[in-house]
Order: sequence, then C-alpha cells, then structure tokens
Amino acid sequence: MTRLREYLLPTEKQPPADAEAISHKLMVRAGLIRQMGAGMWTWLPAGWRVHERAVGIIREEMNAIGGQEMLMPVLQPAEPWRRSGRLEIDELFKLSDRKGSELVLAMTHEEAVTFHVAQVVRSYRDLPLILYHFQIKERDEPRPRAGVLRTREFIMEDSYSFDRDQAGLEERYELHVGAYDRIMQRTGLRFYRVESDVGMMGGLGAHEYMAPCPAGEDQIALAPGYAANVEVALRNPDVRRVGDGYALGDEPLSIEQAIEVGNIFKLGTRYSEPLGASYLDETGTELPVWMGSYGIGPARIVAAAVEQFADEHGISWPRALAPFAVHLVGIGNAGTPENEAAESIYEVLSEGGVEVLYDDREAGPGEKFADAELLGCPLRLTVGRRAVESGEIEVQIRRGRQAGPGLPLEGGRSELVRAVHELWQSLP
Ligand code: ATP
Ligand code: MG
Repeated sequence: MTRLREYLLPTEKQPPADAEAISHKLMVRAGLIRQMGAGMWTWLPAGWRVHERAVGIIREEMNAIGGQEMLMPVLQPAEPWRRSGRLEIDELFKLSDRKGSELVLAMTHEEAVTFHVAQVVRSYRDLPLILYHFQIKERDEPRPRAGVLRTREFIMEDSYSFDRDQAGLEERYELHVGAYDRIMQRTGLRFYRVESDVGMMGGLGAHEYMAPCPAGEDQIALAPGYAANVEVALRNPDVRRVGDGYALGDEPLSIEQAIEVGNIFKLGTRYSEPLGASYLDETGTELPVWMGSYGIGPARIVAAAVEQFADEHGISWPRALAPFAVHLVGIGNAGTPENEAAESIYEVLSEGGVEVLYDDREAGPGEKFADAELLGCPLRLTVGRRAVESGEIEVQIRRGRQAGPGLPLEGGRSELVRAVHELWQSLP
C-alpha cells in the first residue's frame, strides 16, 4: 500500500547540472536515486523497488540452473589477492586495520570463492558446483560517470562454477548463457550477447551482454546474425573496410553504442591453481578445479532500461522492472465524491494484488500527471470528477502515451481487478 502523500519520492523539474546521460537525468528527476559523492549513490525507495525487480529475475533464473545462493564479505584479507596476482590492480581499494593487517575491498569475488572451494572441495564427488551471491563491489574507477551506470560501489550478481574438467566447464558455461539470456529477455531490454575480450580476468573465452543505449561506453558491431564487440570484430579475418565503414562478407556492419550489463568468462584454472583449489579423481590423482565466472549488474539493467525507453516526458518502464504497475492519480479534495471514488479504487486494486502508487497529494492535476509520466509506471489511472460523471476510469498506457480502454468505476471489484490484470499482461 503506497500513498504518495507519505512516500519519499523527491521529484525535480531540473536535472543535476553535471548530468549528461538520460538515465542520470531522469533517475534523479524521478526521485529514484540521489548522489552522495563521486560514484557514490543512494537508491531511494522507488528506485530500490526497480533494482530489486531486476534482482528477483536474476535470482529466479540462477536458482533454475542449480545455482546456490550464499554471501561472501566485501572486506577481505589481502593475501588471496596477492596469490592470484591481482593485489596490484589500480581499481582495487586497499586498506589496513588497527593492527596493521592488510585488507582489500573486493572488486569481484573470484579470490574469496576459490579460497573456500580450496578448503571444502576434496573429491570429484563434490563437483560440479554453481555458487552465487548478490554483493557490493568496490572499485576505484578512474572515471565514475552517468549516475548509476558507472559507480565506485555497486551491487553485482556474481556466480562461479566449479568443474572437474574443461568439458564440465563448457556445460556450466552453457547453462549460464541460457540463464543470462532469459534474464535479459525477461527484463524487457533490447540486448545482444557478443563475443568479448577476456581482459583482466584471463581465461579461455568470454561473452558480454550489451544493451544498446546512447550513454553506453562500448561499441558493438552488428550484421544480420552477427554481433560482436568492435575490437573483436576488427580482428575477424572476414571483416574488411569498405568506404566509410566496415563489412562482414557482403553485409555492412553497423556500429552501435552500448553499455555492458553482463559478462561471462571461462576462467579455466586461472584462479584454482594459485589458490590451491583441487580435487582427487577416481584414481586418487590431484587435479585443479575448472572454473567459470559470471557477473551481471542490476543497476546497469535499470539504467539501460531508462535509456532505451524514455521519451521527452520521462521514464517508460518495461513492466518487468516497473516500481509499481499502476500510478493512480486522484483528483479532488477530501470529502468530494471523486476523492471517495479514488480512495475506493485504490483499496480495490491493492486488495486485488495490483501494485498501486496512489497520488493522494493535495496538488494540481498538471503536477500529478507530470510526475506520473516522469516516474514511468506502465499504467496511469485517473479518477476525478470526470470519472465520477462518466462512470469510467481514464487509462493511459505510458509506453507511447496512448489512451487505454476505459475501466468501469462502479463495476464489481473482481471485474476491475481482472480488467487491470488483463491490460497489464498485454503491455511490453
Ligand atoms: P566495464 O567494462 O563497463 O567497466 P567490467 O568489465 O569492469 O565493466 P565486470 O567486472 O565484467 O565489469 O562486472 C560484471 C558486471 O558488473 C558488468 O557487466 C556490469 O553490469 C556491472 N558493473 C561493472 N562495473 C560497474 C560499475 N562501475 N558500476 C555499475 N555496474 C558495474
Ligand atoms: Mg566486463
């Protein structure tokens, strides 16, 4: 039950002065996030609801491939990082405690998870494993930017697979490809899975999940049936320069800006060897564990959705991510029949399991409509004097700003809930 009168949704008419990216501007203006320092952001209640929608989708798909959720610390001893050779990375925050022990703030969790697996996995019978968590990452990014697209602290869902050999790793990798594909599809984002460089993680192969959007810092090369990171594409022997661009065979390659929302890696034994994660096979021979690592950023999913679907009036959430299904705008002062009608619709929908944000503030319709379009809930229902007179609740579908089918104000309770539910199912 959410009444705007009591809810912390500090909307703004103007974006922050330093904001360039659409998602930065709109997420601040819509009251979803607020900045505390460079690359340090707070998720306000409505923003956190969206973040947690992405988290919920990720969790369901990870559990569906047999992932086991756990939680590892952010504050860690430096020693495993020294052993993996990553202690010197500039992005890694280093600190020491009062006794002088060297510590780090984890920028990812390969060291931690491999440390545990080295202790608890003994034999081939203990494998395979998929372990994952949602945890804060700390990164001393050289250039935090664009609101929550690149922050110094963010939540990642990172998953790690452990197998006895390369064939096992390939199998676990394919399971993650399936899970991550489904996650991206369910969010409603436009995305591409592209081959990528292995980069600082080292390893045997990798893919990135890229969401095209103007604020993206990566470039992807696209042709029918082909999508790759630009650097990878340019190393492809079938790609050649033509005129002012590139072509793959006969097909011109188009280049699009995109933001990386997920990244999956075949690590092999890159971490298991230095950190001593091994197992005994059937003959008692000690062998290194084969690992994969898989990361996805809910904050980037949220920001990319803002970037991809916003219009000049504000955000337009895909329904899978929307903070609320319905933004109910009540017009009319307390004690009027229209106010009573709005209150009753709010109650009926809420009791019917529809997630409603009810604008019950003492503000003018113009201000209420502007805030509703800025926040971007998929359905806006308006109950004012007009609705009372006509017997019909006015419906606006946020995507495209089209008028939806009017809903009966005085019909049966379950009828109204069913109608809203049906309309909801038809939305993108
Ligand atoms: P980038 O190349 O954009 O810096 P990365 O390759 O360093 O990202 P990974 O280490 O692969 O990122 O992390 C996995 C996921 O975590 C990314 O796909 C992204 O969704 C998220 N992520 C990474 N860095 C940030 C950041 N600074 N702010 C918000 N999310 C991030
Ligand atoms: Mg990456």
